[in-house]
Amino acid sequence: MYYISTRDTAPEKTMYSAAQAICHGLAPDGGLFVPNEIPHLDSAALKALCPLTYAQRAAAVLGLYLTDFSAEELLSLCRSAYSEESFPAGAAPVRTVDETTAMLELWHGPTCAFKDMALQLMPKLLVASLQKTGERRCAYILVATSGDTGKAALEGFRDVAGTKILVFYPQHGVSDIQKLQMQTQTGENVCVVAIDGNFDDAQSGVKRLFADEALAKELHREGVFFSSANSINWGRLAPQIAYYVSAYCDMCNQGRLTPGDTLDVCVPTGNFGNILAAYFAKRMGLPLGRLVCASNRNHVLTDFFQSGKYDRNRPFYTTSSPSMDILISSNLERLLYLLTNAEYTSDCMRRLNEMGFYEISDALLQTLHRDFIGAFADETTCAEAIRTAFAKNNLLIDPHTAVAYACAKQYQAQTGSDTPMLIVSTASPYKFAQDVLGALDQKKHPASFLTMEMLSAQTETEIPLPLKALKEKTVRFTATVGVDQMKQCVLEFARD
Ligand SMILES: *Cc1c(COP(=O)(O)O)cnc(C)c1O
Repeated sequence: MYYISTRDTAPEKTMYSAAQAICHGLAPDGGLFVPNEIPHLDSAALKALCPLTYAQRAAAVLGLYLTDFSAEELLSLCRSAYSEESFPAGAAPVRTVDETTAMLELWHGPTCAFKDMALQLMPKLLVASLQKTGERRCAYILVATSGDTGKAALEGFRDVAGTKILVFYPQHGVSDIQKLQMQTQTGENVCVVAIDGNFDDAQSGVKRLFADEALAKELHREGVFFSSANSINWGRLAPQIAYYVSAYCDMCNQGRLTPGDTLDVCVPTGNFGNILAAYFAKRMGLPLGRLVCASNRNHVLTDFFQSGKYDRNRPFYTTSSPSMDILISSNLERLLYLLTNAEYTSDCMRRLNEMGFYEISDALLQTLHRDFIGAFADETTCAEAIRTAFAKNNLLIDPHTAVAYACAKQYQAQTGSDTPMLIVSTASPYKFAQDVLGALDQKKHPASFLTMEMLSAQTETEIPLPLKALKEKTVRFTATVGVDQMKQCVLEFARD
């Protein structure tokens, strides 16, 4: 198997190995890497995965895509990524919601958000890929974050040999808990710096640094080169396919499914990575039915699935599910490519870039509807969902998961469907304790330890250890710099 760019229109397409795709991140023409074919997982192979551990299942699924990695290599990487130490409650446990509905919890990792599922493994895949491609310099990961990704990347790259990571976050643009999570980050190869500006300032600063050729030369002399841990990297998408397969196995083991039964899924969506992984699993032959794409008040995707027009020219809202506050869902490009071709995809992306919108044909929209349906929940509906899930199902869920819960229930009510439904749960409720407690008691709370403790006392649930432990941790990183000082930070840390 090899990888090609979603925008490569040449008849003889340029081929990349999986290791090359992971090292490059983005294709040179600006497109995203996709496998040239989708491997098949037949029912016998699926059955064989049922008795296995999460790491074994993940290694087996990844082996079908990363064909330049050996089975032993992948198993060893997955074992260390999804260890009991990092995921004490299991990597991707499935819990019961009600008769027809289950929940896949993807937040039992070190940073209590689903980004860990990819970012605990991806740094290891990157280091192995650098070795395979003969790269000897140190990979210097540069991240601009609005909260979750920065922390998950720091934890993933912490003390990974051959890498160093520098994270910039907006001084006033992340929650107090998120800030503390980053400021207390351990590891010899990590650095965290606050920017005197907003998230856009941090992100455009990082983009400028990536494009700075003089800086790249300077870094090369120091024996390092820039790399990214972006969510569009295939090394972040591929590990996400595994947990859909794993959830199906678990539900068979639990007697909730008989092998071959159809399972619908509902995914809280931002950049379209998580739900695209479900689509890959379905195309591989996993018996998935409807993929419900759940959005918050920024429902550009819901509108797209309804009308066929993707239009980012609209107001941007800040919501209680910030990781879904996105107007350009980058991974949608991969879906378009899989259903059309590079010409069509390039054209849509050019229109999106130039005019802020594109429109697909009716025929393509019909095709999309075979697999996807869009739904959204506004802030009031999201808060209601947090209350309902706790009152009716005894489940404490975070606002991102609540958006999916509301959309799944809406879908079931509207269609009368009794097909088993899997709701994907993407963050610990304690990461968003002020909103979760606020939804439950309908009062205002600050983002503080006290709020976490109140939530715990009121709901008789446990604060996850990584968040509880923050209180005792030493603050290591307190620097705040102006946007014009970012380059200096990068150089200083390169020589560190
Ligand atoms: C990143 C994130 C999402 C969105 O996932 P995509 O793959 O970007 O669609 C949803 N919920 C949480 C908690 C996240 O961190």
